[in-house]
Amino acid sequence: MIARMQVRTISESSVLRDSYGRPIRDLRVSLTDRCNFRCFYCLPHGEPPIAPKEQMLSYEEIEYVCQIFVALGIEKIRLTGGEPMMRRDIETIIRKLTKLKTAEPALHDLALTTNGYFLPERAQGLKDAGLDRITISVDSLKRDVFKRMTGVDVLDKVLAGIAAAKEAGLEPIKINAVIVRGHNEDEVADFAAFARDYDVKMRFIEFMPLDSGHEWDRKDVFSGKEIRDRISERFPLVALDVARGSETSSRYRFADGAPGEVGIIAPVTEPFCGACSRIRLTADGQIRTCLFSTVEHSLRDVVRSGASRHEIIDYIRSVILKKEPRHFINDPEFVAPSRSMSFIGG
Ligand code: SAM
Repeated sequence: MIARMQVRTISESSVLRDSYGRPIRDLRVSLTDRCNFRCFYCLPHGEPPIAPKEQMLSYEEIEYVCQIFVALGIEKIRLTGGEPMMRRDIETIIRKLTKLKTAEPALHDLALTTNGYFLPERAQGLKDAGLDRITISVDSLKRDVFKRMTGVDVLDKVLAGIAAAKEAGLEPIKINAVIVRGHNEDEVADFAAFARDYDVKMRFIEFMPLDSGHEWDRKDVFSGKEIRDRISERFPLVALDVARGSETSSRYRFADGAPGEVGIIAPVTEPFCGACSRIRLTADGQIRTCLFSTVEHSLRDVVRSGASRHEIIDYIRSVILKKEPRHFINDPEFVAPSRSMSFIGG
């Protein structure tokens, strides 16, 4: 008995580390692969969910595996999707995961990425349930371009959602914008102005080959450098004096001291795989060790097989050792994953 307890303690006390020595600290959990938007760079035709409902993880299963992940050193959990707020009673899972913030070791950060549609009515409820931070996707500040890019005419509602999130104190608020050449690159400096006016952290994201239509083309990628140059023409930037660590974005403040912040996420032209600390859990319980993985690992099947906690931990560790050294977007033989961002969990 003592020997068994010791094994378990050792097994749980060491941080998850991949075969390249990278510590794994961030977990993105997709709550659903359904989405009420039809962003052309993600899920333009609204493909039906690939898995039937019974294959989706229940909230109890998500809570159970997240508790194990946190015991293994995961510090940040980001809930995503699909549109995570389409999952009924998302506040319930937030309440369950919030309890992990007082565990030992503890979860440090519980965040949510959403398209903002449901926030006007529900931002306060998310805060009350224990959510720390929120990221809201807004690809254009112009009604017609927003509609063209997302397939829905709801810019006003999303802007009201940002205001509601601020009001509820879900700060710091991050705004994600995927910049695609020929669509919204002319708005890059306007987004920076938005960050200054509303004191939010803008995150500009390069277009990645993760669209369900497989229509991604390198020439449509508006690069991180182009984004930086566009902003600097209007608002000179100063690189933030913070260690980037495993962060996805390179971060800047405004040289004139205005509020707000700019971050540029450039996985295509400035890859940051060497410091990657992320893994993903899909809504149907598959671990993905890279956004661009072509293989998945069914944690759901292991959990549902009646495996012990110890066996689940062994399985997770063995999967982490298979984490890819880097993405291969820029290699001639690159093959895009068959699942789009909405099914993977962005
Ligand atoms: N529905 C939520 C939302 O809209 O934020 C969460 C899921 S969404 C898949 C997460 C993020 O992935 C969004 O900011 C979205 O813009 C981004 N995304 C989706 N497809 C992408 C692509 N092909 N390239 C770059 N970013 C993408």
